[in-house]
Amino acid sequence: MDYQGILNVIEDKIQGEKLQGNVASYIPELAKIKPGKLGMHLTSVIGEEFHFGDSEERFSIQSISKVFSLTLALLKEKDEIIWERVDVEPSGDPFNSLVQLEYENGIPRNPLINSGALVICDILVSHLDNPKKEYLEFVRRIAGNATIDYNERVAASEKEEGFNNRAMINLMKGYGNIHNDVEEVLDFYFDTCSISMSCRELAQTFVMYANQGKLLKDQKRVLSEVHTKRINAIMQTCGFYDEAGEFSFRVGLPGKSGVGGGIVAVYPNMYSVAVWSPKLNEKGNSTAGMRALELLTEITGSSIF
Ligand code: GLN
Repeated sequence: MDYQGILNVIEDKIQGEKLQGNVASYIPELAKIKPGKLGMHLTSVIGEEFHFGDSEERFSIQSISKVFSLTLALLKEKDEIIWERVDVEPSGDPFNSLVQLEYENGIPRNPLINSGALVICDILVSHLDNPKKEYLEFVRRIAGNATIDYNERVAASEKEEGFNNRAMINLMKGYGNIHNDVEEVLDFYFDTCSISMSCRELAQTFVMYANQGKLLKDQKRVLSEVHTKRINAIMQTCGFYDEAGEFSFRVGLPGKSGVGGGIVAVYPNMYSVAVWSPKLNEKGNSTAGMRALELLTEITGSSIF
């Protein structure tokens, strides 16, 4: 497959379509990003790399980090305990919604919305001596890149404004589903969201989920095949909040978005791909990012469906 030729066609089309959307502004530090950025990078499971545009520029991965958090939690805690505290159903609600928590006794619908990620962060705080340090070491290990880091300004900016997340974690604490100090878990959650990575770095990290849970560089296994299947399944059904159905319908791959404008998608046994464009639609997903991935599966004539 001529992926580079296809990516070039996608870049031309997207530039011509002048897609609308707004940069996330509820985290003040993110509102400063230039809206016109566009980059894409595809890493195949045999190690080929294809890209265009701003694919090397780092941006705030935000909710994409929820996949790393879940991965690390699955390595640290028994499945039965995790899935008692977080469900695996699509929410059909916005990423920051509290409504379902009340009639579901503080059990979040899935680990890829804020409430679910907060419970996963609580599990990690229980298991790690130094969560912030060990989390970053884990991300660096699966990325094969020791320069990946938190963006302290983004984390601080969200800590100042994170009223909704604070309400959510307190509600879950009331139901007994948060075991540690709420401020400690919140701080850790905001740190995880603040990690900066480029499309290239994201594609090279997520290729593990396309490669049956093994790192590409040395084929070392990080995740079992069962866990890899489960994470891809959760990305497929829950990776885009109340637009998970739309993403499945248009793109047909497991994926995860973040309000920094990044989207990663995984084609098991084929490739991982990351795209970045900061203008978001009303559901908080990158408008051009969704379009680029839709074009990718349409032009290649190939998706998991
Ligand atoms: N840090 C963001 C928040 O908690 C992540 C949201 C997202 O990327 N959808 O609101």
